Amino acid sequence: LDTQAAAVEETMTPVYAKTEGVHQALLRNLIDQVLNRLNGEMLQEYVPESLLNKHGFPNLQQAIQMLHHPSPDISLEQLEQCRHPAQQRMIFEELLAHQLSLMSVRQRVKKEEAVPLPLDLTQLDVFKQRLDFDLTPAQQTVIAEILQDLAKASPMMRLLQGDVGSGKTVVAACAVLAALGSKKQAAIMAPTEILAEQLFENFCNWFSAKDCVLLTGKDKGRLRQSKLEAIKQAKVHVIVGTHALFQGDVEFNELSLIIVDEQHRFGVHQRLALKDKGRFNGTIPHQLIMTATPIPRSLAMTAYADLDYSVIDALPSGRKPVSTVVVSEQRRQEVLGRVAGACASGEQAYWVCTLVEESEALQCQAAEETASLLQQALPELSIGLVHGRMKQQQKNTVVDNFKQGDINLLVATTVIEVGVDVPNASLMVIENAERLGLAQLHQLRGRVGRGLKQSACVLMYSSPLSERGKQRLAILRETSSGFVIAQKDLEMRGPGELLGTRQTGLMQMRIADIVRDESWLNEVSSASRYILQNHPDRVRPLIRRWLGRADRYGAV
Ligand code: ADP
Ligand code: MG
Repeated sequence: LDTQAAAVEETMTPVYAKTEGVHQALLRNLIDQVLNRLNGEMLQEYVPESLLNKHGFPNLQQAIQMLHHPSPDISLEQLEQCRHPAQQRMIFEELLAHQLSLMSVRQRVKKEEAVPLPLDLTQLDVFKQRLDFDLTPAQQTVIAEILQDLAKASPMMRLLQGDVGSGKTVVAACAVLAALGSKKQAAIMAPTEILAEQLFENFCNWFSAKDCVLLTGKDKGRLRQSKLEAIKQAKVHVIVGTHALFQGDVEFNELSLIIVDEQHRFGVHQRLALKDKGRFNGTIPHQLIMTATPIPRSLAMTAYADLDYSVIDALPSGRKPVSTVVVSEQRRQEVLGRVAGACASGEQAYWVCTLVEESEALQCQAAEETASLLQQALPELSIGLVHGRMKQQQKNTVVDNFKQGDINLLVATTVIEVGVDVPNASLMVIENAERLGLAQLHQLRGRVGRGLKQSACVLMYSSPLSERGKQRLAILRETSSGFVIAQKDLEMRGPGELLGTRQTGLMQMRIADIVRDESWLNEVSSASRYILQNHPDRVRPLIRRWLGRADRYGAV
């Protein structure tokens, strides 16, 4: 704030964020004109008086006045930290609008009907006996929560959160089992073809392979037609795929359950679009959204206010934390020696090329070059390569060969970030680790440490690395808890990065900042419920004021 000017005026003079070519004086003048023209509707107070009083907030008109013409006795420090009641009130209202938007989506969906999918417990027992491990108590708990939801005639809308390797797939399978028990279809959507393929394999093992189909963008022509036909005729009930699942020509036959794996890769819209595909006889499918992004609870409550929340909070026993080291690129030679040593003793390793280049084509080229350099340096090893531009068939072959143990070292771009499950792989090297987010590094690291062997992860950075960069990587060395990492990532980078840019519609707020204003989140969610109950007529205008007419969540 321009305090010099304030000394001679009755109020302080605001200094606005500069826009190129627009001077402060002009901006002030324009804003004053706008303020003078604000009409009744624009200044209409939608926050109930009881809430204003409870928090000592000024009303909207007073708040706007105060923000644009702050009185001289105001605390600058308070203003700078957005702690002035006028600012807090705007923050509160914005958070409220976002929350109400998601809650009204939820209300609308919950009013719809779904086909109840009760599961006979003996069927569940038979299924459990087919597994080659015992379910952990954490898995049993969330399975019970899900089965309870599925037995109802109201659509399940549940988020299942579980760290990488916590065993979400088998939980999803139990939900699928419930759909199969009622002879209805279930669709499982994964963000990449490799992951879809792997889920498909799991389901083929656990259910009748004849009852499962895999549908991805790679299916063309007659093959695709015959798969679509099988889906439409209900010759298959377990339908696994990528986003190809909600393309126009896919017709389901009594789709009763949708599972979205690794939700952070999809936008809110995509999952809701699939829901509408599943409409039949006046019902919509149950929805289970799975994510490995460990979101702090307060943030989850806000970002997924439309969903119930289950969490697998413990890994299967016997897993050893991956020991992580941070080394400079200059020690590449040592790292190569380590890879050679591991492979010589029958272990397998990943070499992850992070995406230094902007374009996918260049990234893949870089990975190709890395692979051939590694082959020169380590001629005795069998080295494979996977990247996003390879044909699905090729990718599958390489990943299969790696699984079979025919490949010692798999060079990959971050396409392997999600899902790939090769327990014998016990070493991972990540190049340019400093360029990735902590959550993403944690995901990558989750590819090792799946077997009984002690696994290791080498985070290689290119020098020089800033102090802050070192601190970030050190967090990974110090903890293997996805939750701790997520919390740190959140503090260091903000929620947009954590949740993935694609679904940050919610997080792009004008005044509020979900991290800074975290202490409001609980209050905002109870205030939202209060408004929905007692002032339903204010919900639309509030959403409209802050999110615009194209209410991002409500529209779908
Ligand atoms: P994520 O939650 O990351 O999707 P997955 O479902 O892929 O994890 O499971 C990771 C690995 O752990 C798989 O190999 C799976 O078979 C195994 N697994 C799952 N549940 C258990 C369990 N209760 N005990 C032992 N291993 C398990
Ligand atoms: Mg998974």
